[in-house]
Amino acid sequence: MTPKSAAAAARATVYGYPRQGAHRELKKAVEGYWKGRVTADALRATATDLRRTAWRQLADAGIHEVPTGDFSYYDHVLDTSVMVGAIPERHRAAVETDALDGYFAMARGTQDVAPLEMTKWFDTNYHYLVPELGPDTVFAADSAKQVAEVKEALALGLDARPVLVGPVTYLLLAKPAPGVAADFEPLTLLDRLLPVYAEVLADLRAAGAGWAQLDEPALVQDRTPAELNAAARAYRDLGGLTDRPKLLVASYFDRLGEALTVLAKAPVEGLALDFTEAAAANLEDLAAVGGLPGKRLVAGVVNGRNIWINDLQKSLTVLGTLLGLADRVDVAASCSLLHVPLDTAPERDIDPQILRWLAFARQKTAEVVTLARGLARGPGAIAGEVAANRADLASRASSPITRDTAVRARAEAVTDADTRRSQPYEERAAAQRARLGLPLLPTTTIGSFPQTGELRTARADLRAGRIDTAGYETRIRAEIAEVIAFQEKAGLDVLVHGEPERNDMVQYFAEQLTGYLATRHGWVQSYGTRYVRPPVLAGDISRPAPMTVRWTSYAQSLTARPVKGMLTGPVTMLAWSFVRDDQPLADTARQVALALRDEVHDLQAAGTSVIQVDEPALRETLPLRAAGRPAYLAWATDAFRLTTGGVRPDTQIHTHMCYAEFGDIVQAIDDLDADVISLEAARSHMQVARELAAHGYPREAGPGVYDIHSPRVPGADEAAALLREGLKAIPAERLWVNPDCGLKTRGWPETAASLENLVGAARTVRAEL
Ligand code: GLN
Ligand code: ZN
Repeated sequence: MTPKSAAAAARATVYGYPRQGAHRELKKAVEGYWKGRVTADALRATATDLRRTAWRQLADAGIHEVPTGDFSYYDHVLDTSVMVGAIPERHRAAVETDALDGYFAMARGTQDVAPLEMTKWFDTNYHYLVPELGPDTVFAADSAKQVAEVKEALALGLDARPVLVGPVTYLLLAKPAPGVAADFEPLTLLDRLLPVYAEVLADLRAAGAGWAQLDEPALVQDRTPAELNAAARAYRDLGGLTDRPKLLVASYFDRLGEALTVLAKAPVEGLALDFTEAAAANLEDLAAVGGLPGKRLVAGVVNGRNIWINDLQKSLTVLGTLLGLADRVDVAASCSLLHVPLDTAPERDIDPQILRWLAFARQKTAEVVTLARGLARGPGAIAGEVAANRADLASRASSPITRDTAVRARAEAVTDADTRRSQPYEERAAAQRARLGLPLLPTTTIGSFPQTGELRTARADLRAGRIDTAGYETRIRAEIAEVIAFQEKAGLDVLVHGEPERNDMVQYFAEQLTGYLATRHGWVQSYGTRYVRPPVLAGDISRPAPMTVRWTSYAQSLTARPVKGMLTGPVTMLAWSFVRDDQPLADTARQVALALRDEVHDLQAAGTSVIQVDEPALRETLPLRAAGRPAYLAWATDAFRLTTGGVRPDTQIHTHMCYAEFGDIVQAIDDLDADVISLEAARSHMQVARELAAHGYPREAGPGVYDIHSPRVPGADEAAALLREGLKAIPAERLWVNPDCGLKTRGWPETAASLENLVGAARTVRAEL
């Protein structure tokens, strides 16, 4: 290999593309099918159309091999379960009766059969369906979907590269099937799974695929020697097959680390690596293993999971360094473009100047193509693009939006003291007891009450101009009054206003903070047919005016009991937004924290004695590799404490998280120095209470006694039993009584009955103390 021939061969590619279509056609077709309004044939036709449009878009932009198989009616990990025949026993009959209905039954469940569990795809906000495996799992190849899509693309005259979840990642993402021992390790099934992959690969070759891509993002996480051995075995076996396409093993989201040594030695023809900042170490590591002689290297230099334009000059430099390290270097986005919206063009509400800083899937595709051209033909071939890119980057760097001197000066002046409460927890707790006068086992809720149809209609009416702001606010006030009246009647101790004014716990605040940007069409798949439009942290963050005070104050004016103020914490604000890439996350978190700190201050000044700062995303944002975690947890907990640190000792700070397991962050939870934490616990029978106790957590806690994820009403005796369980771990002086999470997705009847039972349970157990 010479750098020159490696360069000349450079091509552009991507690993996956948004599935939904420009107008979310897929969502409409799939949901229409569920409701019986769209036939299976019509759904298939829509899907074929969407795939064709996406491939055409990619090919017209200059993408060399279009990805196939990345399309999905619901989720590509579920598609992989179908491909390897890992259909849970309880879904077998449905799948055999009708493959499509059976597929959706696995995804969503039916009246009688539970769906597969859903969880986050690495550290993204995409959710996949967790494969369920056990010692009795019998795999069987079903390559129909993959083969059909390759043929579809080839029939359009395109070069197709099927993209599959790799066998090691598939097994590492799986969990023991119901009824299988919890310590069963799905990876032990590798030898059974590999022949199925071999069969699929042979089918893909027969269909005309020259290359197949096997995605192994699980290998960027910390892996045991046994897991690395499994990866080595998998790719030795698959590489050793004779009847197969060339294999490209893809990794993304972080550095490959130890797995790079394994894959570099494997008899596969290509590796795809992430070279964005999060995985920058790949560059050195690759040089250290002596490059990939004889292999194709696909370089993910364009960030596939954020929405900012690339620094073309910087990427060219990286690509130039890579040229000496492989036989052929191709250019790609770092991961599937599934994680970004489709196109910036329809964003007509965004200032055109700012819009130039943004790149969604279409724009990222163009960047990848430009870079490949620059690599193949020399930088002169893309001089115009590079110059325009430099101007856009400069306009972003010097803009008053990204450089608000007041915000920066304030952030710089933050001292350690700003992140500390003025008194230790024990003293604060005494002051709060005196001020609030709550009974033992105080009852409360997590914040939201049912988001009724009327509330959604009111918001739609406001947007459409059918009602004015005053009319809208009247409706919101009426709802708050109802929520307060209900809570008083039910006998709750610390009340909430119910969050009726919030469309979403992040968006609501993003809309009111300067420096945040909203998109009109920036939909990204969260799971299945659920799409979200994450707001964009575009500039320096400040709060022009109070955001929640009047609602909380109004609620407080209706009752003598304390009403809890309700805010979304800085880490969650970052986690569920697109974040800036031009400064450390810690700096963005600090700016958001300062804006929220002002809100906390104003709530307190308005007489609010209890303020909750939700941080449900604290754990999901944990870096994929353990080495990155201490630094993350340090800035994350700092940001929380900066938000809450300035309050009086007798103002009670609550926080809330929705996990059943958090052993790995219990110290961080402690470091938040909140006075009260509420957590999800009902389904795990108070496991969190025991974990907190084992850690010696010294503060008050409310492990949930009401599972809000289902319409089921827990009986008062059931909630009481959970409370008694909680009391074994946490003393009565420090135990709160609350549901697992907010009630916004629930209906009123079950909410009312459940909360009445919850209060009843607290009374029963109090009487036993
Ligand atoms: N306060 C929010 C609510 O009740 C918390 C939501 C969450 O934890 N995800 O809806
Ligand atoms: Zn929650």
